[in-house]
Amino acid sequence: MTSIPNNLTDEQIPKELAQALAGLYSGAARLPARVGGRTAGLAALRAYNPKDYAARNHLLAPISRLSMYLRHGMLSPREVADHIRARARGTDREEGLRQLAWREFFWLVLKQKGRAVLENLEEPKYRADWSAELPGDIRDAKTGLPCADDWITHLKEDGYMHNHERMWFAAYLIHWRRVHWKAGYDFFREHLLDGDLASNALSWQWVASTFSGKPYIMNQANIEKYSAGKWCEGCTADCPFMGSYEQLQEKLFGWRA
Ligand SMILES: Cc1cc2nc3c(=O)[nH]c(=O)nc-3n(C[C@H](O)[C@H](O)[C@H](O)COP(=O)(O)OP(=O)(O)OC[C@H]3O[C@@H](n4cnc5c(N)ncnc54)[C@H](O)[C@@H]3O)c2cc1C
Repeated sequence: MTSIPNNLTDEQIPKELAQALAGLYSGAARLPARVGGRTAGLAALRAYNPKDYAARNHLLAPISRLSMYLRHGMLSPREVADHIRARARGTDREEGLRQLAWREFFWLVLKQKGRAVLENLEEPKYRADWSAELPGDIRDAKTGLPCADDWITHLKEDGYMHNHERMWFAAYLIHWRRVHWKAGYDFFREHLLDGDLASNALSWQWVASTFSGKPYIMNQANIEKYSAGKWCEGCTADCPFMGSYEQLQEKLFGWRA
């Protein structure tokens, strides 16, 4: 591999890295939206106040944004758990530790099943006719739905998506657009700074119902509630998420729960 000088300025780094890593990435070479490394990870951990974390499903609630440091081993799960125990109380503490436990669970499943996590672990719980390719309008954030286009833009520009946006986007891609979860997994791996094998593949499979008892879906009211109406107020798009859960299940899967 080409060696990279260690005295480069921030402006020079993308160009040098782009040359050294040519063929291993797609799109324009640029510095990530957030600074990596152990020092930045420790600073982010110290600055993180988990008060009100229990409301994490709301896009405006405080979340840690520590996933990329955990993903790249710059912080350990134990350090984050210790921080939560020291700084959070009650349901904030419980929820913080519960989410960290999901991460550990996914890694244990990966350890047990290996690369089989990249194939359907179970049969989907509805007659699924998924195409393999990621549609171009999704890749380009031009679906015509302000919410979905914003989720995709967050992914591509920040290398990050809020957990609820990830769930909404995954459901939209798999159940509304009928695209195989693997295409979404690959798209996330391409752009997420925290993109990994375990949490990524198994969360996609959880939404798809190949690692859960039923497919995850949301409706417009759910999106509006957890985003404080950010996209829904004044939206003129022909919203595919409109309706009750029963109506959407019937439309998407041909059954009611
Ligand atoms: C379709 C889909 C794909 C995902 N892909 C990834 C991925 O590639 N890498 C990844 O780290 N997470 C993934 N997640 C889980 C979750 O969305 C992110 O861990 C979380 O959004 C990171 O933000 P945060 O650091 O602010 O999390 P916080 O809410 O502050 O939680 C703290 C830490 O706990 C862990 N965590 C939190 N929620 C979850 C969860 N639901 N599942 C597993 N671990 C969790 C993360 O390590 C996170 O950094 C995915 C979720 C979905 C629905």
